[in-house]
Amino acid sequence: MSFETTIAGSLPKPRWLATPDELWAGWLHEGEALREAKRDAMRLAVAAQEEAGLDIVSDGEQTRRHFVTTFIEGLAGVDAEHRATVRIRQRYDASVPRVVGEVSRNGGVFVDDARFLRSITPRKIKAQLPGPMTMVDTLKDEHYGDREKLALIFADILNEEARDLDAAGVDVVQFDEPAFNVFLDEVAGWGMEALERAASGLEATTAVHICYGYGVKANIDWKSSLGPEWRQYEKTFPVLAESSIDQVSIEIAGSRVPLEVLDLLGEKEVQAGVIDVATDRVETPEEVAALITSITEHVPSERIYPSTNCGMVPLSRPVAVAKMKALAQGAALAS
Ligand code: ZN
Repeated sequence: MSFETTIAGSLPKPRWLATPDELWAGWLHEGEALREAKRDAMRLAVAAQEEAGLDIVSDGEQTRRHFVTTFIEGLAGVDAEHRATVRIRQRYDASVPRVVGEVSRNGGVFVDDARFLRSITPRKIKAQLPGPMTMVDTLKDEHYGDREKLALIFADILNEEARDLDAAGVDVVQFDEPAFNVFLDEVAGWGMEALERAASGLEATTAVHICYGYGVKANIDWKSSLGPEWRQYEKTFPVLAESSIDQVSIEIAGSRVPLEVLDLLGEKEVQAGVIDVATDRVETPEEVAALITSITEHVPSERIYPSTNCGMVPLSRPVAVAKMKALAQGAALAS
């Protein structure tokens, strides 16, 4: 059988779109010029995925400065101008928007992007949204004072957005929940409840992305503190296995995640991270194929979607392109 390949989500942006070599970089255009530049960048991101030979393509998150805050800033009740600095996932400080009143959605945030993506590629498409738990961890709440309550409100808002993405023809709606790898006790409580609420009632395949983060210093330091075996998934996978979510996107390549934790995922599909995004070294197709083959010892082939560990936005464009090619070629070899 052949594997369908995809990327976790983001790709590096062209130098003419946002300040180069900077995470969460500012835009280099505004107004109509920015709107046009973002669409041009989406076309390039899609072409790069198609040329690499990937099957399920994304917009490369070319319209977002940040995978979480850009969505939050699209909502009412949020002050994106007078920002606050908070510690995210107990790891690093970031400039985030403030929630200053009742939050609500005044229409689509990424829905136009999804429609555009649908119009420029015949392939299956995937759209990413932040997960509710990661959202409440990536803002300053000055109104609700209760993470669980705010997460459940975000879940309803996300569900409105997800249903619109579904109607726009998106094949996979993915919720990015790296916070699920940090606040392990809360996942089984309100975390999964909020995620399922966000993902309910969709035609599209629903996915959740749970990773150990980009290859930035704070994440690399955190990973080196996690010991010889990373067993965070051991706690969340049994909860996910019982959930209504179809697919789980996880980090495997170059990590210390023991493959036997995959046995805990029950019937779920697995977007298996077989490309390490924390290094510029490009995997060979043979390495990728070997990793996919070892994953088949724990997950049936028909439920495996070879992917990247996480977003590739911090990488250079040539490295990201080379990694996508290695991914597609490796998956073909393993078929
Ligand atoms: Zn990730």
